[in-house]
Order: sequence, then C-alpha cells, then structure tokens
Amino acid sequence: MPEEKKYDIIIVGGGPGGMTAGMYGARANLKTVMIEKLQPGGQIANTNDVEDYPGFEHITGPELAVKMADHAKKFGLEIVFDEIVEVRSESESRKVAIGAGGVNYVGKQMVIATGGSATRLNVPGEDQYSGRGVSYCAICDGAFFRDQVIAVVGGGDSAVEEAIFLTKFGSKVIVIHRRDELRAQRVIQERAFKNSKLEFIWDTVVEEVKGDTKVHSLALKNVKTGAKSELEVGGIFVFIGFHPNTQILPDEIKKNDQGYIVTDYRMETSIPGIYACGDVRAQLVRQITNAVGDGTTAAMAAVYRIEEIEG
Ligand code: NAP
Repeated sequence: MPEEKKYDIIIVGGGPGGMTAGMYGARANLKTVMIEKLQPGGQIANTNDVEDYPGFEHITGPELAVKMADHAKKFGLEIVFDEIVEVRSESESRKVAIGAGGVNYVGKQMVIATGGSATRLNVPGEDQYSGRGVSYCAICDGAFFRDQVIAVVGGGDSAVEEAIFLTKFGSKVIVIHRRDELRAQRVIQERAFKNSKLEFIWDTVVEEVKGDTKVHSLALKNVKTGAKSELEVGGIFVFIGFHPNTQILPDEIKKNDQGYIVTDYRMETSIPGIYACGDVRAQLVRQITNAVGDGTTAAMAAVYRIEEIEG
C-alpha cells in the first residue's frame, strides 16, 4: 500500500500560478501542499530577464521564483519535491495525486498548475544533438556558446527575447523564422531590430541539425522558393511555442482544440473540486501576471468550497 499524506488543498506544479495558489491556500489557514518535480519557478526559473511583472522593472526569473516561494512558505505552504505521475478524482472532496516516489497525496480540493513544455522541431538530428548544441533554454545554456554563431528558431516573444539575451554570448545570433514577419510583441521586435548582433533569416525552416560530436550546421529550406542551404552554427536554440502538460490528468477533464484545460470563472475544471491555473489553462495570453491571477482565484475557490462543505 502506498503511503498516504492528507491535505486540504493540493497544488500540482510549482510555477508562478502554483506558488500563488499555494500562498492563498496556506494564508487561509488550510493545510496546503505544492508538489513540484524540479525547483519552484516553472518556466520563469529559465527566464533571464522579467520586465513586465508589476513592481519589478527588472528581475531575473530565478530571483522572482525564490521570492515567490519564500513568500508562500512564510504563510505556511509546504513544498514537496516529487513527480506526480497520475491525478485521480475519487469524489468531489477526495482528490489524489500519485507520486513517483510511492506517496499518494490526498486532498479535499486540487489545483492543477502544471504549465507547458517546449515544443520540439521534430527534425533529424534534434534529439541526437540535444544537450550537444541543441537547447530549449537560453539562460541554462547560453554561456556555452560564447563567441560562436548561434541560431534561434521561432518568431514569437520567447524566440525574440531569448535571441536578444543570447547576443551577450554569441559572436552573432541568427533568428530563423518560417514567415517574413515576427509574431513577437512590437516593443520586443523594436529592441531586436536595434541590436547589431542580431540577424534574421526569413521564410525559412530548419530541415536537419547536423554535427559530429556536437552541432556544426543546419540544413535550411526557404519555404517560398524551395531553395536549400546550409548554415554553420555552434548551437541552435528552439523557441517555437509550447504545449500544455496534461498527460497526468484524467481524460474526462475538458480541454479545448489545442489541448488546454477549459475552466469556468472560478478556475474550476469540468471535474468539481479540480481547478487549473496558469499556462495549462485555455486563455488569451500566457504571462506571469495571468498565472498569478489564476492561482489566486483557483485557491480562493477551493477555500470557499471547503468552507461550504465543512461549514
Ligand atoms: P508562440 O507565441 O506560440 O510563438 C511560436 C513561434 O514559433 C511563432 O513565431 C511560430 O511561427 C513559430 N513556430 C511554431 N511552430 C513552428 C515550427 N514547427 N517550425 C518553425 N517555427 C514554428 O510561443 P512563445 O514565443 O513561446 O510564447 C508563448 C506565450 O508566452 C505567448 O503567449 C507569449 O506572448 C508569451 N510570452 C510572453 C513574453 C513576454 O511578454 N515578455 C515572453 C515569452 C513568452 P508563426 O509566427 O508563423 O506561427
């Protein structure tokens, strides 16, 4: 029999949404646990510069993550490091998160804050050279490419912001985008176009990552002309979006066409007593500020539900 640990509110995932939900659950004097696989912070732990979190003109992602975790812990949040492999809803007030380490975390209410993961290019050589020139995290790996030519794939906020960051290290950073215009916000684009170390290759996709012991070049194809070319690079960073992490959830949780969890205004999913917040939830924009707002609502909805049930 697995060990059973009982809580009022269980939060699965430790990004900004999960940490905020944890803070509000604990602040309401409920026994609240946040279960995280690696370190608290989620995607912000891999973000160099956060400049759009109110009150902080500039703060690094890891610093903000530590501040959030410490703040939540001050209110009594318990943070546990474990990998949740399955979530079950046994009744409206018995939710179970099954940990890989042999512990079942049982809660009266549960908040899903599992975020999303980087989408892969799915081209030959990508997996083979992952960690040997192919990366999905500029803050983690940028310094390995000092004075080398770095390629960045994608045209969204992440690709362009991280490309700007990578100019600190690379002799040159080349953004390869499949269209002839960026998706990134105007303010980020303007900063990129002013950066003399940044170059763009438009209308182009990466067909193969090539190397020997590590990456040395990319096979490219212009999608308009069909012309093929080879680009010598020391490394390639892929930022082509992400997908929600919903693999551990019961199938009956309602999701939209893109696989994001659908909630009501209380952040409650189609399974009563299970809430979702942050990047895993269907919504218009995915920012730290949204995740924090969602986390607040989800936790407070869970608190009110426990009060309704228990009086
Ligand atoms: P995103 O906005 O979905 O952009 C993905 C980019 O990758 C797009 O330019 C897309 O091209 C390209 N792409 C997708 N699949 C591709 C493929 N198979 N091959 C080549 N290119 C491909 O993703 P994101 O940049 O990771 O951002 C995710 C969310 O986080 C967004 O809501 C974003 O606003 C937010 N975010 C905000 C900030 C900030 O405000 N500072 C920073 C980071 C992220 P197309 O343009 O042609 O579709």
